[in-house]
Amino acid sequence: MSKVVDIALPLAHIGSVNAWLLRGDPLTLLDTGPRDDAALAALEAGLRREGLRIEDIELVLVTHHHLDHVGLAATIQRRSGTVVAALDRVADYTARYHAEVEHDRRFARALMAHHGVPSDVIADHEGFWTYLRSRSEDVRADVRLADGERIVAGGRTLRAVWRPGHSTTDTLFVDDDARIAFTGDHLLARISSNTEIHATDRAEDGRARSRVRYLDGLRRTARMPLDRLLTGHGAPVTQPARLVDARLRDHRRRCERILAILADGPSTAYGIARHLWPPRTVAEQPLLVVWEVVGHLELLLAAGRVRERVAETGSTFGPIDPGRAVRAA
Ligand SMILES: [Zn+2]
Repeated sequence: MSKVVDIALPLAHIGSVNAWLLRGDPLTLLDTGPRDDAALAALEAGLRREGLRIEDIELVLVTHHHLDHVGLAATIQRRSGTVVAALDRVADYTARYHAEVEHDRRFARALMAHHGVPSDVIADHEGFWTYLRSRSEDVRADVRLADGERIVAGGRTLRAVWRPGHSTTDTLFVDDDARIAFTGDHLLARISSNTEIHATDRAEDGRARSRVRYLDGLRRTARMPLDRLLTGHGAPVTQPARLVDARLRDHRRRCERILAILADGPSTAYGIARHLWPPRTVAEQPLLVVWEVVGHLELLLAAGRVRERVAETGSTFGPIDPGRAVRAA
């Protein structure tokens, strides 16, 4: 079996991101780290420890379109002439990275305003988008993989599985023979993954559905015959089904907490977030907390436990009286 080497690259705020070197034919790097000097130097040092250089890389695979996973792909492509392969959805995004980021920025601003984030907090959040713009670069994928398609990488056959939730483009690369999978940020050992809300990711009723779909995806992953998930950040996941159970329990607990908050009266998603996190967190990470609360509200809406009132000024959420819901059903 070909060897897999974890090259941990420095990453602001989160600590590190894993780039996986798959020794074998073709020599493969799975996820690249962000496009900055520190990550590039760490990648070069990691390859050197293996007696390799960036110029030796023959195939780059990426697990999703987020910057810390694709940032250096174009740099590596220029230096080594590597083939870059990605799920078609990832390829569509990275081909026009700057335009997509600008589109995401406009959508996120409207989403935050709709869910009660004050305009000064939205204005202060602009630095996040400046960061994304400065660290990103359009990447042309040479190979576009369809969901379920197989590709040979580092002496293994990997099956690309579209498993959205954390992002709209999340891809698992599954080695069925070795019972392992490279899973990006789909499920992380020590922190729970966030789920982004994207303009294109809407159910027929117009509602976001990323969290509902994410939990469905987690359950599907738990049923796969896998012994180890090699993840995008931190240590591998060694008992996927058990960790998924724990994550599902966390979701139930947070949903109950939100219902308890709404028992005092209807609220916007951002208003709920103020009860859940310290003032500094909700002020500095308004988009993350909106994704988190709206994600849990999606679950509660799907379960018929809350109702949403949509007005011109935005949405408020309130509890549904359980007795009345049963009579109405
Ligand atoms: Zn990510």
